[in-house]
Amino acid sequence: MKYSDEYRDPALVERLYAGVRDVAAGIDAPVTIMEICGTHTHAIGRFGIKSRLPDTVRLISGPGCPVCVTAVEDIDRSILMARLPGVILTTFGDMVRVPGTDGDTLERARAQGADVRVVASVMDAVKIAAAEPQREIVFLGVGFETTAPTVAATLRRCRERNVRNFSVFSVHKVIPPAIQVLLDDPLLSVDGFLCPGHVSTILGVDAYEPIPRRGKAAVITGFEPADILQGVMMILTQIATGKVDVEIQYGRAVNREGNPVARKMMSEVFRPMDARWRGLGKLPGSGLALADEYATFDVFNRFDIPTVESKEVAGCLCGGVLTGRKSPADCPLFRTRCTPAHPVGPCMVSREGTCAAYYRYY
Ligand code: SF4
Ligand code: SF4
Repeated sequence: MKYSDEYRDPALVERLYAGVRDVAAGIDAPVTIMEICGTHTHAIGRFGIKSRLPDTVRLISGPGCPVCVTAVEDIDRSILMARLPGVILTTFGDMVRVPGTDGDTLERARAQGADVRVVASVMDAVKIAAAEPQREIVFLGVGFETTAPTVAATLRRCRERNVRNFSVFSVHKVIPPAIQVLLDDPLLSVDGFLCPGHVSTILGVDAYEPIPRRGKAAVITGFEPADILQGVMMILTQIATGKVDVEIQYGRAVNREGNPVARKMMSEVFRPMDARWRGLGKLPGSGLALADEYATFDVFNRFDIPTVESKEVAGCLCGGVLTGRKSPADCPLFRTRCTPAHPVGPCMVSREGTCAAYYRYY
């Protein structure tokens, strides 16, 4: 498999483990590295990387899964929308299982008669709108900079074609404000960040510049074992030499500028808004609302959605897990009441959620 097998080559991987050990031996303090992306969390677990790193190098997980960071009130509001008469609520598979207040989910709403449909892409939701002109199709859009440009392109097309029965509940988020929160957290002691590969194809390096400005290392990394180990080694090398920067390990997919065309499309269709993240609270400018020209596709201009009193699931430590302060094993519900088959919190829902990855691999 091109672009995959060569990054799993056992001899290369062993050389990289040895390299990591060598560089780590030259650093006289323990090093903590946070991976921001859930796909990294999943890969680190899947390839057993943690257990083979030197004792002085610790990997912890951060808020890299958009499903997991979706705020409980956004889940509650999407359930309310799904229950409105005439509405078909469409979204990605993981979202239907994410618990809202009192463990309510879109899946449960569907079992009670709401029309909730899982789609593979926003375009599939638009196809439903074309097939069911008498119904109102709502797309619950989650995702970071990797997903938002596709939604933007689709809305541009909907506007050109004057699609009237389609609207978006945008809970899309952007990564840089979350990184800033992590950098500002006095309780979080992280020496370097493995930055997300996919998001960086859009963002490029600029978004991560605040990391070295705070004296921490940053490497944009791919998802195969050799990528991750090389990323770890590059971070350790920055720390060992005292020259922190934003480096690209994942050069086969990411360039320094990212994708300005996708960013322009996003800025045309969306505008920044303050958004609430599970675990991180309300972050200024971290969400994407629809721009005025696209207001007709904004679900809140189409329906009157009452405000609800939302609350997190009792006992779930997802907030701490998403900020790297807690490990899934710290949660008393982990593997007992909370399992992938019966998730209590969002981090157990998505395959790349930290609790789901730990359940599977540790
Ligand atoms: S696959 Fe999961 S972790 Fe990765 S970006 Fe999507 S929701 Fe996040
Ligand atoms: S184990 Fe379940 S309840 Fe506990 S933090 Fe993880 S997702 Fe939340």
